[in-house]
Amino acid sequence: MLLTPQPTPIQEIHDAVFDQAGVRLLIKRLDLVHPLISGNKWYKLKYNLITAREQGFETLLSFGGAYSNHIHALAGAGAEYGFKTIGVIRGEEHKPLNPTLQFAVDHGMRLHYLNRVDYRHKDSAEIIEYMKDEFGDFYLIPEGGSNAMAVQGCAEIIAEIDQPFDVIACACGTAGTLSGLIAGLQGQHQALGVAVLKGAGFLGDEVRLLLSESGNQQYENWQINLDYHFGGYAKTKPELLDFMRRFEAANVIPLEPVYTGKLMFGLYDLIAANHFQRGQTVLALHSGGLQGRVGFEI
Ligand SMILES: *Cc1c(COP(=O)(O)O)cnc(C)c1O
Repeated sequence: MLLTPQPTPIQEIHDAVFDQAGVRLLIKRLDLVHPLISGNKWYKLKYNLITAREQGFETLLSFGGAYSNHIHALAGAGAEYGFKTIGVIRGEEHKPLNPTLQFAVDHGMRLHYLNRVDYRHKDSAEIIEYMKDEFGDFYLIPEGGSNAMAVQGCAEIIAEIDQPFDVIACACGTAGTLSGLIAGLQGQHQALGVAVLKGAGFLGDEVRLLLSESGNQQYENWQINLDYHFGGYAKTKPELLDFMRRFEAANVIPLEPVYTGKLMFGLYDLIAANHFQRGQTVLALHSGGLQGRVGFEI
């Protein structure tokens, strides 16, 4: 199985604030990488799909919330590359299905709901055994898709960038993508993660763990900013939604409020506060996830 990403453009964003700060802001449009497998999830899944195929698995199983971009991408990957997929969803079933889960079902995914208590133990041997009894053998991908193979896949994003930059920035949920960028940079330049959840101090340890699990050095040219979570995961505030409306109108680039909206808000704010040195170029990763826009009033 050969997985080659569709080439995606890098665009420059213009704003008087950037001129004042003497900083350039570029955006890498990974949201355009694949019609069914959005953004960073394409890269996170790549080596998982290759390994599952090599090892003879026909079924992929993973976990997520009812609006999960990862579940959406996994269903798309199953349809595209000929795997059966099982999505283990946190919480109760709600009918009609929301657009994320409807897409998953329409692309062949079988959904299984776990109550919140069992969901917390989803990685336990007991729950995995139960799943095997229920569904037969499967290739297991962790919630959010962050494992050593996701790091390997996301590292390849760096090689696709054909313009000079000083800092590469991405939104951080589990930090799998950030870890991959750090691995791909191999100590050059800087990586900046913007955490989209509250209390995300643990993400630094996640990065160190994922770098070590994927056989990478403990590089130190990275940081995680914790200031732009807007109250927590998938929480928004009027100022975030206002910013997104203005950004979209000025640049004709769609964002969503869970990840990319917070990333871009954070970068504008940091640039305005002269966080970056004059003359630097910041490259933001548009990690996709636009399916998640549905349901927010933007
Ligand atoms: C999943 C996702 C992220 C977070 O990626 P992690 O590797 O979990 O940090 C960022 N942006 C979008 C659009 C996503 O769907």
